[in-house]
Amino acid sequence: MSKSFRRYDVMAAIRHTESLPSPSSSKSMNIPEIFGENTLHLDNLKARLPKSVWKELRKTLKNNEPIPLGIADAVAVAMKDWATERGASHYTHWFQPLTGSTAEKHDSFITPNQGGGAIAEFSGKELIQGEPDASSFPSGGLRATFEARGYTAWDPTSPAFISTSAGGSVLCIPTAFASWKGDALDHKIPLLRSIEALDKAAVRALHLLEEKDVTSVQSTVGFEQEYFLIDQEFFYRRPDLITSGRSLFGAKPPRGQELEDHYFGSIPDRVLAYMVEVERELYRLGIPVKTRHNEVAPGQYEIAPIYENANVAADHQQLTMITLKRIARKYGLVCILHEKPFAGVNGSGKHTNWSMATDTGINLLEPGENPHESMLFMFFCVAVIKAVHDHQDLLRIAIAHAGNDHRLGANEAPPSILSVFLGEQLQDIMEQVLKAGGAKSSKNGGFLGLGTTALPHIPKHAGDRNRTSPFAFTGNKFEFRAVGSSQSVSFPVVVINTIVAEAIDYMSNLLEAELGKTKDGNLSAAYPKVIQSVLKSSFKILFNGDGYSIDWVKEAKTRGLLNLRSTMDALPLLMAEKNVKLFEHYKVLNHRELESRLEIMVDQYFKTINIEAETTASITDTMILPATVRYMNELLAYQDRGKSAGLKTDGVNKTIVELNGLINELNERLYDLKAVNADLGGDTVFEKAEHMHKNVIPAMNAVRMVADKLERITADDYWPLPTYREMLFVK
Ligand code: ADP
Ligand code: MG
Repeated sequence: MSKSFRRYDVMAAIRHTESLPSPSSSKSMNIPEIFGENTLHLDNLKARLPKSVWKELRKTLKNNEPIPLGIADAVAVAMKDWATERGASHYTHWFQPLTGSTAEKHDSFITPNQGGGAIAEFSGKELIQGEPDASSFPSGGLRATFEARGYTAWDPTSPAFISTSAGGSVLCIPTAFASWKGDALDHKIPLLRSIEALDKAAVRALHLLEEKDVTSVQSTVGFEQEYFLIDQEFFYRRPDLITSGRSLFGAKPPRGQELEDHYFGSIPDRVLAYMVEVERELYRLGIPVKTRHNEVAPGQYEIAPIYENANVAADHQQLTMITLKRIARKYGLVCILHEKPFAGVNGSGKHTNWSMATDTGINLLEPGENPHESMLFMFFCVAVIKAVHDHQDLLRIAIAHAGNDHRLGANEAPPSILSVFLGEQLQDIMEQVLKAGGAKSSKNGGFLGLGTTALPHIPKHAGDRNRTSPFAFTGNKFEFRAVGSSQSVSFPVVVINTIVAEAIDYMSNLLEAELGKTKDGNLSAAYPKVIQSVLKSSFKILFNGDGYSIDWVKEAKTRGLLNLRSTMDALPLLMAEKNVKLFEHYKVLNHRELESRLEIMVDQYFKTINIEAETTASITDTMILPATVRYMNELLAYQDRGKSAGLKTDGVNKTIVELNGLINELNERLYDLKAVNADLGGDTVFEKAEHMHKNVIPAMNAVRMVADKLERITADDYWPLPTYREMLFVK
């Protein structure tokens, strides 16, 4: 058959919608009852352990000591019993390699016994440490193949959980992954180290600020995950979506998101049924999902849980992405997490909300209601401002990858220039502090005397109105909006934790020095000086205006802010001396570990574009050119036969000429693309990535431009790819 008969695909897609399970047949959604039923928190573990073992375990965890084997054995048995009661036959050390996804190798609990049978067993040794063959995970040179094995180590601070699928159930044990030399091969280890660095710095500062009861500070993270859903009938007919996660072709549909009727609109039935099942699964995993809604683009949605401590939040973020993808298949849908799957409509991000919480229950970014709380807030808020100011490059690097390049600075996403948005009122307060460092009135008539009076009430959500800012204060937390939808949140959070730890330490040093100057260490005299001087040197990072405007690009330049437009502009700065020093000083990443991350990020960039280019060429060669040529043939045949029948056939002349022109042009562009993509641009991964950026991407775009024109004039039943109109609007 020469045609694709895509209309039948549409009909098949619609049929999925009709065969949904009815709401009454769906399983119960009693949240308190199901919440966490598939997770084993330390507290549940407690109930399963002898008292003495529990006490010993608590002690070693608290002091960060290695767990004695005897204790680990008891814990392993309790874990295994819990898991087998829930149908698990296997366990896995669940970890986060530097690819940004998660990895698992399943081992059975089986141990053969002498009688030729088998029993389920799980030892402390197996719990504490596994030895996966690490040679297939990217290590960026951290691990020579002769010492290919890495080891995974149990992270007791993130709960173990059961992953269930049609294939059975597996006990998943969150773990860290390191080389035998102790270098981190994963995202979790640096995250845990950064959490510790921030904890130490913040506690020290709090003690200086006369908040002596605090013994620990956690970074808290809540994310808002955006995603697209399309019918699988379309997905599997798009080689580009399959290999690259984004459409490499596709003319803009007559109706895109212009009507803006999708955002917060009523959720289509099939999608809602899907969301409910996703949420049920996430609740069972102990993930506190809170919000669901339609996003701006057609076919785009969002899910957001309530925030948790950064380590658990990062694990839960990975589980959320896995669950979104897995459940979609049951509804005949595919969940697309790419930052820009469809050109011309909004892309997807993962707003990463971040704050710090003390073990005494204070959110350090809550403006507070009394003078003391206000003082704490101002101190930590200014520390964040300084951190962003000093390390714009690192924040930019943390979100730099091929997918996000399509999104940053486009008209729906924050620009690639880092700035901090505070909202009008807080900005006003900061301006006054800068001018006077003392008592002044604020815009709503309140009174601000640093360290002596409370801040005026700062309304929550006031900040949310500016959606153009990459780093915005939203009432009681900062929101890093530039994070991409497909990313692991770990590295962005590592960066925030570490740079804020440094800023806090810097301010604590100043504060100590100031306190030393007065004889009785007068805090209310010393404190404003610190705030003022730090604010002064970081003030230029504050920007309340429209981040999308051209004027801002110009202004940012005069302010001396960095504008690292693309991944390849940003990544090389990772190894700048200040960054190496920062990560080494806080023992978050050593020089080798940092270098390895850079290498992996550059390599992934190169490979992503290289695959996209090859897919572009292959779709053009094997789908678009044949289809358009066949259509051309049909037109020519009509013209020919029409003429011999004595008919006037001028009606198709124009189309024939246009089609012919475009087919020739497409061939030329395709030839160019193949030529540049055949040349890798050099031997090092940097040269290759640079070549992709400079030469291959433009060549790929040129092919697409012609192909999209062809899509508009080729007979619909000849066009070999599902169109945007179908993918985005059949729900
Ligand atoms: P907004 O409308 O300002 O985006 P939401 O209340 O919808 O705020 O919260 C968005 C995300 O921010 C949620 O995941 C929420 O749990 C998270 N969040 C709220 N408070 C904090 C905090 N103190 N630390 C980290 N994340 C937080
Ligand atoms: Mg938000």
